[in-house]
Formats: sequence, structure tokens, C-alpha cells
Amino acid sequence: MVEYLCDCASCYNLSDDDARLQSGRNLREHQKRYGQPTDAQRKRRAEQKERQNRRQQRRNRARTEQAPQQPDGSHTAPSEALDGNGDGENGNGGWNDAGLEGGEAGQGEGVGTVRRGGLAGAGEVFPDTLWNTVYIPRMDGEHAEEWDAPDDPDSDNENLLTAPAYSAQKLEPPYIRMAYLQAVLNNVTGNTPVRQTEANLRTSLAMLDVARGLPAFPVPARTLRTARRRVGVDPDQWIIQYAACPQCWKLYMPEAVIKLDSPSCTIPGCTGNIYMLGEKGKRRPLKIIPQVSLITSLRRMLLRKGFRRQLRDSRGSPVGQNDDPHFVMKDIHDGEVWHELRTGIKRELGNQGNVRDIGHDGGEGSRLTEHRLGLHMTVNLDW
Ligand SMILES: [Zn+2]
Ligand SMILES: [Zn+2]
Repeated sequence: MVEYLCDCASCYNLSDDDARLQSGRNLREHQKRYGQPTDAQRKRRAEQKERQNRRQQRRNRARTEQAPQQPDGSHTAPSEALDGNGDGENGNGGWNDAGLEGGEAGQGEGVGTVRRGGLAGAGEVFPDTLWNTVYIPRMDGEHAEEWDAPDDPDSDNENLLTAPAYSAQKLEPPYIRMAYLQAVLNNVTGNTPVRQTEANLRTSLAMLDVARGLPAFPVPARTLRTARRRVGVDPDQWIIQYAACPQCWKLYMPEAVIKLDSPSCTIPGCTGNIYMLGEKGKRRPLKIIPQVSLITSLRRMLLRKGFRRQLRDSRGSPVGQNDDPHFVMKDIHDGEVWHELRTGIKRELGNQGNVRDIGHDGGEGSRLTEHRLGLHMTVNLDW
């Protein structure tokens, strides 16, 4: 997420959190309205910074006693740089001393600062010198194969997208599929009880058998549940019933529950139990968290006829419309951030704890809006 830190006269003395603005346009409007901070303000901020730096320095020394002590004043150098900065025309304030992503700032007008996901404060005092790529683990290595396999013995990965009765491997004749669909329809919309539905289905199959129309393979489904799956209209199929540890909330795939050596949670030190034994010794999870795979759902939705056409094509759409004060925003894609989302980037963690997103080639990556189809996900935690 790109954030804008305003350094107009009004925002200048606010904390980073309070001076955060929604868009570059707001930033420019602030600059226009409140102007540059006064010399007195700059001086006060520089002094504040100086005090902060000294505090930080003391804390750091206390933390790493073995580390060679830096000569006094080395940590305050950035704040001197800030003074220099402040005297200049643009007045970058004090927020971007470390030069995290300074190049993109201000969008040509030299106001404000754009920063990507930096930790407030830290980067200003101790610039990161080393950046390491952060790799997000795709899955828990222990059960890697299970995460890839769907929870259904009757289906393989392919069937997540294609209904078996329509697939190449398990293709069933159209009249069998019609019998399935009729059974499902009677049950879902006609409220026919399951037993009755299945009796009807068997009768239909018997009639086809008499007419010598019953194939040997695949063996026709005789239960409603299987019929639903064969024609791809079983919503339960997409639900993964994770077993959660009631103590630490570690999630276990259903297959993993079957393979556990004991009911105990596998997290070291956790005393939670994952399952209890039901009748016939079946393992019954104590806490179930049902979920549907987001990516798989999207893949299925994209296969629906006409779905792609409904997705907006942002390629070549105008950028910077908000520079026009009369422009009326009507939808999310009228915002400037819409064009700032990037693809082809990796996350890096600096040795001072700052985080940044940077293109694989060291550049900025490409715009999400340069692609016909792109996926951007936002997770709001504890909002
Ligand atoms: Zn402002
Ligand atoms: Zn646990």
C-alpha cells in the first residue's frame, strides 16, 4: 500500500500516523491551502527529532552492548540532513531522510513523500543497508501434498474445475446426466426427500438399463450425493472442514487428522486435543473451521460464461484524473491508488526492519492495470 505523508504547515507537527493522507491529490491540496511549514516549525521538529534520536541511540546501546559504539552524533546525522532538506525549496520534511522510495514522491511537484510500508521512525535514523527478499511460505511443509489434494476421493484437481460427468476421463452420456440433474432438481427445488429422490433416480437408471443404455463405465451414481458431484452442483464439495486446535488454533486438513499419531496438537508445548473418538473409533474433530478456497473459487467463477466480460478492463484508462478539481469520482477505479497497484514485485526486509516492495529487476514492477486480468487482495486485520 502506498501511503502519503503530508508535510504542509498544518500537518508538519503531527505524528506520521496523523499526517497520513489518502491520495496524492489530498497532499497537493494541503500544500496549496496550508503552504510550507514555517522556519520555527522546522526548527521545533528538528529539535524533536534530535531528542528522539538520542533516546533511540541510548536504547540501542543498552540492547547491544557488545556492538561497537558509534561516535556521538553519527545517529543524528540524518536530522542534520533534515535541516538541509528543510531549507530547500521542496521541504521534504523529516519523513524521508532515509531515502526509502523518495524518487516517486510528490509526483512532479516536489511535495510530500511517498513511502511504501516503511516502519514509522526506524528508517529515518538507521537507513537500511541490506535488503533480503521475504518468501511467503505457500503451505505448511509437513503436509504439503495434502494441501494440494482436494478433500474428495471421487475427484482429482481437474474436477475442481470440470464436473466429472462432463470431463474427458469420466464422461457420461447426456441421458445419464439428465437423470442426475432431474434428481438434484427434484430434491433442491421440489423438496423431494432424499430417499424418494434416490428411489426415482434408481428407477430412471433401471429404465435405461432395460433400454440397454446403461454404460459399464463410469458406473452410474445411485445416491443423490454422488449424482450432485457428478454434475458439479454440490456446494459441500468446495468446503474444507479444517480441524482447529482449541488451544492454539493451528489448522489441520481433514486428511491430516486421519494421519495424526495421537489426538494431541503437534505444536510443541501445546496441550490441546484435535479430535475425540466417536462410535466405531472414528476421529471426530473437536473444533471445525469450514472454509472455501478463495483461489479455487475464483478459478471456477472465471470459467462461468460471461464472467470475464464483466471484469473491467483498466488497460489504457486515464491516469491522474483527480488532478482535475472538477472530476467526480464514481467508482473505486477512479481513485489514483487503482493505478498504483503493482505486479512483478517482491517484498524485501531491510536489516533495520523496514519493509519495501520492489520490482524483480530492481525497478517498480508493472502496473496491475496494464494487465487484462489481475488479482489484488487486501486483508484488513482487526479493522
Ligand atoms: Zn497537510
Ligand atoms: Zn495446539
